[in-house]
Amino acid sequence: MQQFQHYIGGAFEDASAQFDSLDPATGKVWAKMPAATPEDVNRAVDAAEAAFFSAEWADMTATARGKLLTRLADLIAEAAPRLAELETRDTGKIIRETSAQIAYVAEYYRYYAGLADKIEGAHLPIDKPDMEVWLRREPVGVVAAVVPWNSQLFLSAVKIGPALAAGCTVVLKASEEGPAPMLEFARIFDQAGFPKGVLSVITGGPDVGATLTSHQKVAHVAFTGGPDTARHIVRNSAENLASTSLELGGKSPFIVFEDADLESALNAQVSGIFAATGQSCVAGSRLVVQESIKDAFLARLKEKAEAVVIGAPDDVATEVGPLCTKRQRDMALDLIARSVGQGAKVVTGGDALDREGFYFPPTILDCDDAREADSLTSEFFGPVLSVVSFKDEAEAIEIANNTRFGLASGLFTQNLTRAHRMIRAIRSGIVWVNTYRAVSPIAPFGGHGLSGHGREGGIEAALEYTKSKSVWLRTSDDPIPDPFVMR
Ligand code: NAD
Repeated sequence: MQQFQHYIGGAFEDASAQFDSLDPATGKVWAKMPAATPEDVNRAVDAAEAAFFSAEWADMTATARGKLLTRLADLIAEAAPRLAELETRDTGKIIRETSAQIAYVAEYYRYYAGLADKIEGAHLPIDKPDMEVWLRREPVGVVAAVVPWNSQLFLSAVKIGPALAAGCTVVLKASEEGPAPMLEFARIFDQAGFPKGVLSVITGGPDVGATLTSHQKVAHVAFTGGPDTARHIVRNSAENLASTSLELGGKSPFIVFEDADLESALNAQVSGIFAATGQSCVAGSRLVVQESIKDAFLARLKEKAEAVVIGAPDDVATEVGPLCTKRQRDMALDLIARSVGQGAKVVTGGDALDREGFYFPPTILDCDDAREADSLTSEFFGPVLSVVSFKDEAEAIEIANNTRFGLASGLFTQNLTRAHRMIRAIRSGIVWVNTYRAVSPIAPFGGHGLSGHGREGGIEAALEYTKSKSVWLRTSDDPIPDPFVMR
């Protein structure tokens, strides 16, 4: 049985308590994970604060921080196959996806390595002749990073990368589901040569997250997860008045007009909803298709969904693996039963597979007669696509925006002017036109409404981890005039 350790203040430690991690492909325990205590959280935050104020980190030039991040990126690239195997084993995410994603995670660290010495302050053209005023851009302090189980290496890279580039220190709480890749990542981080305490990695459940995010020494909370947990996070941050960035869920519309390149739209929709077994915040989980092509499009989609290769996550031929937990599988069954009760029709899938592990097949629900069905309105982390049709552009916009989420959207049309109108009208943080699920370290990522606030990726993300300091310097040698008049 494999045992994992915490990484606190630059040391690897056994925890006083452990919990089991299940292999989603078999449902059986495969490893023991450390469960952090409140005392562990305190030590990790103390180490982060000590590192933040240490000369070794605080006086390090931004260029030198960038070089350490480059070294980390190189080490991640070398270790990518090992990290991918671990993520696949612990979360059930298929090896094809983990291998590609982790290789790209290294590029995120490389991007922030390059950005470290380009986070600039400013000189202000102040309205007083005897003053020089400028803004220093300074790191906010200790960052608490909390991530969900899916894509933890990726979701932590978009926090750790910009935070360290900006000069912050970080305590990361990995999800209690599938934390193995993060605890292994700590070993790679340790080799990169950062001062001790700059990053600690712990794991455990909601209690550990709550202790960390309400800690008095935490200045910023970077969170990815569900909106219900985000409400707790915001309440926790009432304790320390930390700033927050919240990357939450979505109910993303995937809009297909009759003039679209339908073959591309079909392929993008299949990967848009069934990749990562649907456990993706940007899953295109609502197909909004023009009425005139609905039947033909749905027939082809059904064919493609039924041809998807379902199998063991470590098999390179597999396209859809198990869900991460039994709870997710049970929730899928519950969602489908409720939606069918509300009038949705099952086009394909809909029932758990009769095999060991937490498998659930690609499922399509026709919701044209059930426009308020739960599958259309509530976020679900699984391979369930809800379909609804529209007559014209106005109705497409109305359906797309009929949600309080606003993370991503997909738009397939060959009509350039319509595309521009739709881009303006859709309320979401990302609009993909004639493509879907494309990401890059250079492009900010984040949502509107219930999908959260703050951005990850790009220069905007680095600025989330900084605050400005206004500096006033009087240039006159004359004595200060009337001391009771504000200047
Ligand atoms: P979750 O909200 O249940 O848990 C996320 C993390 O929060 C976990 O580490 C958990 O231990 C921690 N947590 C739980 N309760 C807490 C509390 N009271 N205080 C502090 N921390 C607490 O999410 P999940 O089920 O693990 O992941 C799925 C969700 O994540 C979905 O809603 C999905 O859309 C979202 N997600 C969003 C993005 C994005 O970038 N927008 C990316 C991936 C996943």
